Amino acid sequence: MTTNVSIIGLGLIGGSLALALKRNPELIITGFDRSYKSADEAYRRGIIDSVAPSVKAAAKEADYIIFAVPVAATVQLLQEAVTWDMKSSVIVSDTGSTKKPIMSAAQGLIEKGITFIGGHPMAGSHKSGISAAIGHLFENAYYVLTPAENGHPDDLERMKTLLTVTRGKLAVLDAAEHDQMTAVVSHFPHIIASSLVNMLSSQEQGQPFVRRLAAGGFRDLTRIASADPVMWRDITVQNKEQLVDQLDRWLSEMHSVRKMLNESDPDSIQQFFDDAKHFRDNLP
Ligand code: NAD
Repeated sequence: MTTNVSIIGLGLIGGSLALALKRNPELIITGFDRSYKSADEAYRRGIIDSVAPSVKAAAKEADYIIFAVPVAATVQLLQEAVTWDMKSSVIVSDTGSTKKPIMSAAQGLIEKGITFIGGHPMAGSHKSGISAAIGHLFENAYYVLTPAENGHPDDLERMKTLLTVTRGKLAVLDAAEHDQMTAVVSHFPHIIASSLVNMLSSQEQGQPFVRRLAAGGFRDLTRIASADPVMWRDITVQNKEQLVDQLDRWLSEMHSVRKMLNESDPDSIQQFFDDAKHFRDNLP
């Protein structure tokens, strides 16, 4: 028996997910993207089995619908999806980097009796678009699922079974917890990376040579500042509360660093670096 999976949004994540899911020969993968060029490339490269003419057509016969569009578009499409014709047994999911606003946007569908399970494959790249899609992107990376409060455990098992071929590490989390943790490990570091690059750019005016010295460490630390600004605008807006909290913590940390420097306190400075090194060296 075949199973129809529709992927809405055929960029880095949607394309990579389609490639990974194609390891299961029982899945028929339909794709839709508002960019016909992306959908066409996905079809020509054999990443999807067919291109749907519209998002509604993609949803109609699907057993699974996965939104892999930017988070603001995911919220909008989930709200619109309440009026779409879908199988009553369908499982709807997404790949967005925020979960609380997306779970809220899915509330209308959930109230209609449609199963929605939020998803966030925690692997990616600063590259975007279908041309960057690779089938092994999710291997050994956490793939977070955020089921609705009253969701049926069997549906969660069905979703996990579908995703097994991604070879990701499936983890079930509460949406609020997810947003709090991703603010620390992903969203806030993006703000810091971009701010370091903006600082370099502003200081380059007086010292044109400084950009040439921005090698090794600076490049490692700021690689993620090359990610898509629109995607990060949307994520930042949706996870604003957690990010303001992280920013307050960061400012307080920077105040103590400033105090240590002003007081020329080498022991405290060494302790600061020691603590970070110890923790960093023991990260999995
Ligand atoms: P991307 O820019 O590579 O792809 C997004 C695709 O969605 C594009 O092809 C675009 O044309 C399409 N699209 C946009 N709006 C649409 C709409 N209304 N209808 C149909 N198609 C639409 O982005 P991506 O990196 O694949 O990110 C997709 C999602 O996955 C985002 O929600 C992002 O938060 C999440 N995510 C990204 C990463 C990463 O590192 N890039 C990692 C994990 C999760």
